[in-house]
Amino acid sequence: MDVCDLSPGYVRAIAPYQPGKPISELERELGLTEIVKLASNENPLGPSPKALAAIQKALPELARYPDGNGFELKAAICRKFNVTMDQVVLGNGSNDVLEMVARAFLAPGIAAVYSQHAFAVYPLAVQAIGAKGIEVPARNYGHDLEAMLEAIDEDTRIVFIANPNNPTGTVVQPAQLLGFLRRVPRTVVVVLDEAYYEYLPQDMKSASPAWIGEFPNLVVTRTFSKAYGLAALRVGFALAQPRIAELMNRVRQPFNVNTLGQVAATAALDDAEFVAKSVALNRAGMMQITTGLIELKLPFIPSYGNFVCFEVGDANAVFQKLLRKGVIVRPVANYGLPQHLRVSVGLESENARFLAALREVLAA
Ligand SMILES: *Cc1c(COP(=O)(O)O)cnc(C)c1O
Repeated sequence: MDVCDLSPGYVRAIAPYQPGKPISELERELGLTEIVKLASNENPLGPSPKALAAIQKALPELARYPDGNGFELKAAICRKFNVTMDQVVLGNGSNDVLEMVARAFLAPGIAAVYSQHAFAVYPLAVQAIGAKGIEVPARNYGHDLEAMLEAIDEDTRIVFIANPNNPTGTVVQPAQLLGFLRRVPRTVVVVLDEAYYEYLPQDMKSASPAWIGEFPNLVVTRTFSKAYGLAALRVGFALAQPRIAELMNRVRQPFNVNTLGQVAATAALDDAEFVAKSVALNRAGMMQITTGLIELKLPFIPSYGNFVCFEVGDANAVFQKLLRKGVIVRPVANYGLPQHLRVSVGLESENARFLAALREVLAA
Protein backbone atom coordinates (compact mmCIF):
# COMPACT_ATOMS: atom_id res chain seq x y z
CA MET A 1 0.00 0.00 0.00
CA ASP A 2 1.44 3.37 -0.95
CA VAL A 3 0.02 6.86 -1.15
CA CYS A 4 -1.24 6.32 -4.69
CA ASP A 5 -3.43 3.44 -3.56
CA LEU A 6 -4.97 5.90 -1.11
CA SER A 7 -6.06 8.30 -3.82
CA PRO A 8 -9.87 8.33 -3.92
CA GLY A 9 -11.34 5.49 -5.97
CA TYR A 10 -13.20 7.95 -8.19
CA VAL A 11 -9.92 9.60 -9.15
CA ARG A 12 -8.21 6.31 -9.90
CA ALA A 13 -11.20 5.31 -12.05
CA ILE A 14 -10.87 8.32 -14.36
CA ALA A 15 -10.02 7.47 -17.96
CA PRO A 16 -7.77 10.37 -19.00
CA TYR A 17 -8.85 12.69 -21.86
CA GLN A 18 -7.40 11.50 -25.15
CA PRO A 19 -6.21 14.51 -27.14
CA GLY A 20 -5.64 14.56 -30.88
CA LYS A 21 -2.19 13.30 -31.80
CA PRO A 22 0.25 16.22 -32.07
CA ILE A 23 2.07 16.64 -35.39
CA SER A 24 5.47 16.55 -33.64
CA GLU A 25 4.66 13.17 -32.08
CA LEU A 26 3.80 11.57 -35.42
CA GLU A 27 6.98 13.07 -36.89
CA ARG A 28 9.02 11.47 -34.10
CA GLU A 29 7.28 8.11 -34.32
CA LEU A 30 7.18 7.57 -38.07
CA GLY A 31 9.81 10.02 -39.34
CA LEU A 32 7.18 11.59 -41.58
CA THR A 33 7.08 15.18 -42.76
CA GLU A 34 4.31 17.28 -44.30
CA ILE A 35 1.78 15.93 -41.88
CA VAL A 36 -1.84 17.04 -42.07
CA LYS A 37 -3.54 17.30 -38.68
CA LEU A 38 -7.31 17.30 -38.82
CA ALA A 39 -7.81 15.94 -35.32
CA SER A 40 -8.63 18.74 -32.88
CA ASN A 41 -11.12 21.06 -34.61
CA GLU A 42 -8.55 23.86 -34.79
CA ASN A 43 -8.86 26.82 -37.14
CA PRO A 44 -6.85 25.97 -40.28
CA LEU A 45 -6.29 29.68 -40.97
CA GLY A 46 -4.29 30.07 -37.75
CA PRO A 47 -4.86 33.04 -35.45
CA SER A 48 -6.32 36.38 -36.48
CA PRO A 49 -3.60 38.85 -37.57
CA LYS A 50 -5.01 41.32 -35.05
CA ALA A 51 -4.44 38.79 -32.27
CA LEU A 52 -0.86 38.24 -33.42
CA ALA A 53 -0.18 41.98 -33.33
CA ALA A 54 -1.63 42.24 -29.82
CA ILE A 55 0.58 39.37 -28.64
CA GLN A 56 3.66 41.01 -30.12
CA LYS A 57 2.87 44.20 -28.26
CA ALA A 58 2.33 42.42 -24.92
CA LEU A 59 5.55 40.34 -24.98
CA PRO A 60 7.64 42.79 -22.90
CA GLU A 61 5.14 42.42 -20.05
CA LEU A 62 5.67 38.71 -19.56
CA ALA A 63 7.51 39.12 -16.25
CA ARG A 64 4.32 40.54 -14.72
CA TYR A 65 1.39 38.51 -13.51
CA PRO A 66 -1.68 38.74 -15.74
CA ASP A 67 -4.63 40.92 -14.78
CA GLY A 68 -6.41 38.46 -12.52
CA ASN A 69 -9.70 40.17 -13.31
CA GLY A 70 -9.18 40.16 -17.05
CA PHE A 71 -10.66 43.64 -17.18
CA GLU A 72 -10.08 44.49 -20.87
CA LEU A 73 -11.22 41.12 -22.16
CA LYS A 74 -14.29 41.11 -19.96
CA ALA A 75 -15.13 44.64 -21.08
CA ALA A 76 -14.87 43.55 -24.73
CA ILE A 77 -17.12 40.55 -24.03
CA CYS A 78 -19.65 42.83 -22.31
CA ARG A 79 -19.74 45.15 -25.32
CA LYS A 80 -20.18 42.32 -27.78
CA PHE A 81 -22.77 40.29 -25.90
CA ASN A 82 -24.57 43.07 -24.06
CA VAL A 83 -23.88 41.66 -20.59
CA THR A 84 -22.39 43.19 -17.44
CA MET A 85 -18.93 42.54 -15.96
CA ASP A 86 -20.39 40.52 -13.08
CA GLN A 87 -22.00 38.13 -15.59
CA VAL A 88 -18.70 37.05 -17.15
CA VAL A 89 -16.28 34.37 -15.90
CA LEU A 90 -13.03 33.91 -17.81
CA GLY A 91 -11.43 30.49 -18.17
CA ASN A 92 -8.21 28.83 -19.22
CA GLY A 93 -10.10 27.54 -22.24
CA SER A 94 -13.81 26.88 -21.82
CA ASN A 95 -12.71 23.55 -20.36
CA ASP A 96 -11.73 25.54 -17.29
CA VAL A 97 -15.16 27.17 -16.90
CA LEU A 98 -16.86 23.78 -17.36
CA GLU A 99 -14.77 22.48 -14.46
CA MET A 100 -15.56 25.56 -12.38
CA VAL A 101 -19.28 24.90 -12.75
CA ALA A 102 -18.70 21.30 -11.67
CA ARG A 103 -16.63 22.36 -8.64
CA ALA A 104 -19.11 25.04 -7.67
CA PHE A 105 -22.19 22.80 -7.76
CA LEU A 106 -21.21 19.13 -7.47
CA ALA A 107 -20.05 16.93 -4.59
CA PRO A 108 -20.02 13.19 -3.93
CA GLY A 109 -23.62 11.98 -4.06
CA ILE A 110 -24.71 14.88 -6.30
CA ALA A 111 -25.40 14.21 -9.98
CA ALA A 112 -24.90 15.76 -13.41
CA VAL A 113 -26.82 14.76 -16.53
CA TYR A 114 -25.27 14.67 -20.00
CA SER A 115 -25.91 12.89 -23.27
CA GLN A 116 -24.36 9.77 -24.71
CA HIS A 117 -21.70 10.78 -27.30
CA ALA A 118 -21.41 14.22 -25.68
CA PHE A 119 -18.16 16.10 -25.14
CA ALA A 120 -15.78 14.02 -22.97
CA VAL A 121 -14.95 16.81 -20.57
CA TYR A 122 -18.39 16.58 -18.89
CA PRO A 123 -17.95 13.07 -17.45
CA LEU A 124 -14.31 13.92 -16.62
CA ALA A 125 -15.24 17.04 -14.67
CA VAL A 126 -17.96 15.13 -12.82
CA GLN A 127 -15.77 12.15 -11.96
CA ALA A 128 -12.91 14.31 -10.71
CA ILE A 129 -15.22 15.48 -7.94
CA GLY A 130 -16.59 12.05 -7.13
CA ALA A 131 -20.06 13.15 -8.20
CA LYS A 132 -22.49 10.95 -10.10
CA GLY A 133 -22.69 11.11 -13.90
CA ILE A 134 -26.01 10.26 -15.54
CA GLU A 135 -25.54 9.51 -19.23
CA VAL A 136 -28.75 9.73 -21.25
CA PRO A 137 -28.95 7.66 -24.46
CA ALA A 138 -28.64 9.81 -27.59
CA ARG A 139 -31.30 10.03 -30.27
CA ASN A 140 -29.96 9.95 -33.84
CA TYR A 141 -26.55 10.72 -32.29
CA GLY A 142 -27.91 13.97 -30.80
CA HIS A 143 -29.24 15.13 -27.44
CA ASP A 144 -32.63 13.70 -26.47
CA LEU A 145 -33.87 16.66 -24.45
CA GLU A 146 -37.08 14.91 -23.32
CA ALA A 147 -35.11 11.97 -21.96
CA MET A 148 -32.61 14.35 -20.35
CA LEU A 149 -35.44 16.16 -18.56
CA GLU A 150 -36.73 12.83 -17.30
CA ALA A 151 -33.28 11.82 -16.10
CA ILE A 152 -33.10 14.79 -13.73
CA ASP A 153 -33.66 13.57 -10.18
CA GLU A 154 -33.54 15.27 -6.78
CA ASP A 155 -29.76 14.80 -6.61
CA THR A 156 -29.16 16.44 -9.99
CA ARG A 157 -27.53 19.85 -9.91
CA ILE A 158 -26.16 20.24 -13.48
CA VAL A 159 -27.27 19.37 -17.01
CA PHE A 160 -24.65 19.73 -19.73
CA ILE A 161 -25.77 20.50 -23.29
CA ALA A 162 -23.22 20.76 -26.09
CA ASN A 163 -24.69 22.75 -28.96
CA PRO A 164 -23.42 21.89 -31.50
CA ASN A 165 -22.11 18.71 -29.91
CA ASN A 166 -18.59 17.43 -30.37
CA PRO A 167 -17.87 14.82 -31.78
CA THR A 168 -21.24 14.21 -33.47
CA GLY A 169 -21.85 17.74 -34.82
CA THR A 170 -25.55 17.50 -33.95
CA VAL A 171 -27.52 20.58 -33.01
CA VAL A 172 -30.63 21.46 -31.03
CA GLN A 173 -32.91 24.16 -32.50
CA PRO A 174 -33.15 27.41 -30.49
CA ALA A 175 -36.91 26.96 -29.95
CA GLN A 176 -36.40 23.45 -28.54
CA LEU A 177 -33.66 24.71 -26.26
CA LEU A 178 -35.84 27.48 -24.97
CA GLY A 179 -38.66 24.99 -24.29
CA PHE A 180 -36.16 22.82 -22.43
CA LEU A 181 -34.89 25.73 -20.32
CA ARG A 182 -38.45 26.60 -19.33
CA ARG A 183 -39.03 23.08 -18.03
CA VAL A 184 -35.76 22.41 -16.18
CA PRO A 185 -36.18 22.99 -12.43
CA ARG A 186 -34.48 26.19 -11.27
CA THR A 187 -32.52 24.05 -8.79
CA VAL A 188 -30.55 22.59 -11.71
CA VAL A 189 -27.83 24.51 -13.55
CA VAL A 190 -28.04 24.19 -17.34
CA VAL A 191 -24.61 24.48 -18.94
CA LEU A 192 -25.05 25.42 -22.59
CA ASP A 193 -21.67 24.75 -24.19
CA GLU A 194 -21.52 26.71 -27.45
CA ALA A 195 -17.90 26.08 -28.47
CA TYR A 196 -18.92 25.95 -32.16
CA TYR A 197 -21.53 28.71 -32.03
CA GLU A 198 -19.86 30.86 -34.70
CA TYR A 199 -20.20 28.09 -37.32
CA LEU A 200 -23.98 27.85 -36.98
CA PRO A 201 -26.24 29.23 -39.70
CA GLN A 202 -28.10 32.31 -38.52
CA ASP A 203 -31.43 30.56 -37.92
CA MET A 204 -29.79 27.95 -35.66
CA LYS A 205 -28.04 30.51 -33.45
CA SER A 206 -29.64 30.78 -30.02
CA ALA A 207 -29.95 34.20 -28.40
CA SER A 208 -28.22 32.56 -25.43
CA PRO A 209 -26.44 35.62 -23.95
CA ALA A 210 -29.85 37.32 -23.70
CA TRP A 211 -31.39 34.21 -22.17
CA ILE A 212 -29.26 34.46 -19.03
CA GLY A 213 -31.44 37.41 -17.97
CA GLU A 214 -34.48 35.16 -18.01
CA PHE A 215 -32.92 32.00 -16.53
CA PRO A 216 -31.03 32.35 -13.23
CA ASN A 217 -29.83 28.73 -13.63
CA LEU A 218 -28.29 29.11 -17.13
CA VAL A 219 -24.54 29.11 -17.84
CA VAL A 220 -23.50 29.76 -21.45
CA THR A 221 -19.93 28.87 -22.37
CA ARG A 222 -17.93 30.01 -25.39
CA THR A 223 -14.33 29.57 -26.50
CA PHE A 224 -11.57 31.30 -28.44
CA SER A 225 -10.13 27.91 -29.43
CA LYS A 226 -12.20 27.19 -32.51
CA ALA A 227 -13.44 29.91 -34.91
CA TYR A 228 -11.22 32.53 -33.21
CA GLY A 229 -8.11 30.43 -33.86
CA LEU A 230 -6.45 30.69 -30.44
CA ALA A 231 -6.48 27.09 -29.17
CA ALA A 232 -2.89 27.23 -27.90
CA LEU A 233 -3.54 30.22 -25.67
CA ARG A 234 -6.41 28.60 -23.75
CA VAL A 235 -9.12 31.22 -23.41
CA GLY A 236 -12.82 30.68 -22.92
CA PHE A 237 -15.59 32.25 -20.88
CA ALA A 238 -18.94 31.71 -19.27
CA LEU A 239 -21.94 34.03 -19.13
CA ALA A 240 -24.35 33.65 -16.23
CA GLN A 241 -26.27 35.69 -13.70
CA PRO A 242 -24.01 37.35 -11.10
CA ARG A 243 -24.73 34.88 -8.28
CA ILE A 244 -23.63 31.87 -10.33
CA ALA A 245 -20.69 33.79 -11.78
CA GLU A 246 -19.61 34.72 -8.28
CA LEU A 247 -19.69 31.09 -7.11
CA MET A 248 -17.64 30.07 -10.14
CA ASN A 249 -15.09 32.78 -9.40
CA ARG A 250 -14.63 31.36 -5.89
CA VAL A 251 -13.23 28.12 -7.33
CA ARG A 252 -11.25 29.87 -10.07
CA GLN A 253 -7.47 30.05 -9.93
CA PRO A 254 -6.51 33.72 -9.35
CA PHE A 255 -4.51 34.05 -12.59
CA ASN A 256 -6.17 31.42 -14.74
CA VAL A 257 -6.01 33.32 -18.04
CA ASN A 258 -2.54 34.38 -19.11
CA THR A 259 -1.62 37.82 -20.45
CA LEU A 260 -1.07 36.76 -24.05
CA GLY A 261 -4.38 34.94 -24.05
CA GLN A 262 -6.17 37.98 -22.68
CA VAL A 263 -4.78 40.47 -25.21
CA ALA A 264 -5.12 38.06 -28.15
CA ALA A 265 -8.72 37.19 -27.28
CA THR A 266 -9.61 40.87 -26.84
CA ALA A 267 -8.23 41.64 -30.31
CA ALA A 268 -9.77 38.53 -31.88
CA LEU A 269 -13.21 39.37 -30.56
CA ASP A 270 -13.03 42.57 -32.59
CA ASP A 271 -11.94 40.86 -35.78
CA ALA A 272 -15.34 40.00 -37.27
CA GLU A 273 -13.78 39.79 -40.72
CA PHE A 274 -11.47 36.97 -39.65
CA VAL A 275 -14.31 34.99 -38.06
CA ALA A 276 -16.44 35.46 -41.20
CA LYS A 277 -13.55 34.23 -43.34
CA SER A 278 -13.07 31.20 -41.06
CA VAL A 279 -16.76 30.34 -41.19
CA ALA A 280 -16.87 30.67 -44.99
CA LEU A 281 -13.78 28.45 -45.35
CA ASN A 282 -15.41 25.90 -43.07
CA ARG A 283 -18.62 25.88 -45.10
CA ALA A 284 -16.73 25.22 -48.33
CA GLY A 285 -14.47 22.62 -46.69
CA MET A 286 -17.43 20.82 -45.13
CA MET A 287 -18.99 20.56 -48.60
CA GLN A 288 -15.70 19.30 -50.04
CA ILE A 289 -15.31 16.61 -47.37
CA THR A 290 -18.92 15.43 -47.32
CA THR A 291 -18.98 15.26 -51.13
CA GLY A 292 -15.86 13.09 -50.94
CA LEU A 293 -17.41 10.86 -48.28
CA ILE A 294 -20.53 10.40 -50.42
CA GLU A 295 -18.32 9.40 -53.36
CA LEU A 296 -16.60 6.87 -51.11
CA LYS A 297 -20.03 5.62 -49.99
CA LEU A 298 -19.19 6.30 -46.34
CA PRO A 299 -22.11 7.31 -44.11
CA PHE A 300 -21.56 10.44 -42.00
CA ILE A 301 -23.43 12.37 -39.32
CA PRO A 302 -24.50 15.76 -40.73
CA SER A 303 -22.49 18.30 -38.75
CA TYR A 304 -22.96 21.92 -37.72
CA GLY A 305 -19.41 22.25 -36.40
CA ASN A 306 -16.00 22.41 -38.08
CA PHE A 307 -15.65 18.62 -38.14
CA VAL A 308 -17.61 15.59 -39.26
CA CYS A 309 -17.92 12.01 -38.01
CA PHE A 310 -18.00 9.32 -40.66
CA GLU A 311 -18.46 5.56 -40.43
CA VAL A 312 -15.71 3.26 -41.67
CA GLY A 313 -16.16 -0.10 -39.96
CA ASP A 314 -12.84 -0.89 -38.30
CA ALA A 315 -12.15 2.73 -37.43
CA ASN A 316 -8.97 2.05 -35.50
CA ALA A 317 -7.38 0.20 -38.43
CA VAL A 318 -8.29 3.04 -40.81
CA PHE A 319 -6.98 5.60 -38.30
CA GLN A 320 -3.62 3.78 -38.10
CA LYS A 321 -3.33 3.51 -41.88
CA LEU A 322 -4.13 7.20 -42.32
CA LEU A 323 -1.37 8.00 -39.80
CA ARG A 324 1.13 6.14 -41.94
CA LYS A 325 0.10 8.39 -44.82
CA GLY A 326 0.72 11.44 -42.66
CA VAL A 327 -2.94 12.27 -41.99
CA ILE A 328 -4.10 12.60 -38.39
CA VAL A 329 -7.83 12.29 -37.70
CA ARG A 330 -9.56 11.46 -34.43
CA PRO A 331 -10.78 8.05 -33.26
CA VAL A 332 -14.00 8.37 -31.25
CA ALA A 333 -14.36 4.89 -29.74
CA ASN A 334 -14.08 6.53 -26.30
CA TYR A 335 -17.30 8.39 -27.20
CA GLY A 336 -19.12 5.13 -27.80
CA LEU A 337 -18.55 5.39 -31.58
CA PRO A 338 -16.09 2.57 -32.38
CA GLN A 339 -17.01 2.51 -36.09
CA HIS A 340 -16.58 6.24 -36.64
CA LEU A 341 -13.69 8.63 -37.15
CA ARG A 342 -13.92 12.39 -36.74
CA VAL A 343 -12.17 14.65 -39.22
CA SER A 344 -11.78 18.39 -38.74
CA VAL A 345 -12.35 20.66 -41.71
CA GLY A 346 -9.00 22.02 -42.87
CA LEU A 347 -7.70 24.06 -45.77
CA GLU A 348 -8.84 22.91 -49.21
CA SER A 349 -5.46 21.23 -49.83
CA GLU A 350 -5.59 19.47 -46.44
CA ASN A 351 -9.10 18.19 -47.04
CA ALA A 352 -7.97 16.91 -50.43
CA ARG A 353 -4.97 15.11 -48.87
CA PHE A 354 -7.28 13.52 -46.32
CA LEU A 355 -9.75 12.33 -48.97
CA ALA A 356 -6.99 10.97 -51.21
CA ALA A 357 -5.38 9.11 -48.31
CA LEU A 358 -8.73 7.73 -47.22
CA ARG A 359 -9.47 6.54 -50.75
CA GLU A 360 -6.11 4.73 -50.89
CA VAL A 361 -6.58 3.16 -47.47
CA LEU A 362 -10.04 1.86 -48.33
CA ALA A 363 -8.90 0.52 -51.71
CA ALA A 364 -5.90 -1.34 -50.28
C1 LIG B 1 -13.27 22.25 -28.15
C2 LIG B 1 -14.45 22.22 -27.24
C3 LIG B 1 -14.51 23.00 -26.08
C4 LIG B 1 -13.51 24.00 -25.71
O1 LIG B 1 -12.29 23.76 -25.54
P1 LIG B 1 -11.33 24.87 -24.92
O2 LIG B 1 -10.17 24.86 -25.83
O3 LIG B 1 -11.04 24.39 -23.55
O4 LIG B 1 -12.06 26.17 -24.91
C5 LIG B 1 -15.64 22.99 -25.31
N1 LIG B 1 -16.68 22.23 -25.64
C6 LIG B 1 -16.68 21.48 -26.74
C7 LIG B 1 -17.90 20.71 -27.07
C8 LIG B 1 -15.56 21.44 -27.55
O5 LIG B 1 -15.54 20.65 -28.62
